[in-house]
Amino acid sequence: MNILLIGIQGCGKGTQAMILEEKFGWKHITTGNLLRESIENKTKLGLTAKKFMDEGELVPDKYVFKIVEDALSNIEKGSILDGFPRNMEQLKYLEKNFTIDKVVLLELSDEKAIERVSSRRNCVDCKKDYNLLYSKPEKEGICDVCGGEIVQRDDDHEEAIIKRIEKFYKDTSEVISYFSNAAKLIRVNADDPINIIQENIVKALNV
Ligand code: AMP
Repeated sequence: MNILLIGIQGCGKGTQAMILEEKFGWKHITTGNLLRESIENKTKLGLTAKKFMDEGELVPDKYVFKIVEDALSNIEKGSILDGFPRNMEQLKYLEKNFTIDKVVLLELSDEKAIERVSSRRNCVDCKKDYNLLYSKPEKEGICDVCGGEIVQRDDDHEEAIIKRIEKFYKDTSEVISYFSNAAKLIRVNADDPINIIQENIVKALNV
């Protein structure tokens, strides 16, 4: 099964995708992480993408297509797309040779999303995620797992988050309507505890 997880930043897509990947062996493909990897590896694409990402802007499609092409090429059991497609052009590109079976929309208010995202941190070394609201590291600024430094993503400051949320509504609403018209859309409340959200997703997917 190929599913798409969709929702504003902070709705918990990444967390839910990780659990689904572990449970069903579906490959988690997240364009945000793939782009951040390119930045870390200092590739030409990464350096170009960084300027857009730091401003909360979408990276131009031609760069994003390059990174998803590879990721989509070797899927075995299924996949969970996270962060792609974000606009109609990306959707058209994807649908040329790929079928999305179901789309899960994780619904969360803007206020909750801003509060959650601006509290997000992660380890520079092992990438473990933390949140100062509900999953703080034991020692401030230090990773519990590897002792690495815990930092905030460059685009997780409030101004960029608000811009990303606005962009989400502007660019992605059409994608959501498209899947709703195709009877593939499932709406899940993202303000519930993680395990309840997961249960509701699995129930709705009927897997
Ligand atoms: P995310 O981790 O999903 O919040 O994505 C972080 C940033 O990566 C976004 O604000 C965009 O700049 C960029 N990005 C991720 N996915 C896409 C995409 N499908 N199209 C364009 N830009 C993207």
